[in-house]
Amino acid sequence: MEGRRGKAPSADPEEAGTLTKLHGHCKCGALTWRSDGPVLWSALCHCEDCRRAASSDYVSWFGVPRSSVRWSGPRVTYRSSEKVVRSFCGACGAPASFESEVFPDETHLYAATLDDPGTYRPTAHIFWSERLPWVRFDDGLPRYPKGSQDAAQTETPLPE
Ligand SMILES: [Zn+2]
Ligand SMILES: [Zn+2]
Repeated sequence: MEGRRGKAPSADPEEAGTLTKLHGHCKCGALTWRSDGPVLWSALCHCEDCRRAASSDYVSWFGVPRSSVRWSGPRVTYRSSEKVVRSFCGACGAPASFESEVFPDETHLYAATLDDPGTYRPTAHIFWSERLPWVRFDDGLPRYPKGSQDAAQTETPLPE
């Protein structure tokens, strides 16, 4: 979710409203987080920055108000680009969050860190133009070449 590239799409309020009182943990369990929500949006990001930061094919993100997040444990932050601070667990190294000056009131969290990741409902693909060639989906979700601000300007979610 590289801020300079545009804002992530809003989640369906009904869907998003089902995700509150969230909590999650890293691989080793030393780093935990809690949020009383609400979930502001959720999307699968295919941008290279997210993929590199997570060493993953893509990242399943959701956003919550930054003021709603409480961390516990060895959270290490680093500036991954000019306006972006990411964090990870200082004990096991698992990626934990994304925060950008472009979205000063938001913390972006990895759905895979949820204690119950099965509750996660992505609503879109973003930065679809940067997806890896072996990534295949038939989930019917809208596919935005970049972030949703770009999508709003061009109104061109990519076809299948
Ligand atoms: Zn991204
Ligand atoms: Zn850990």
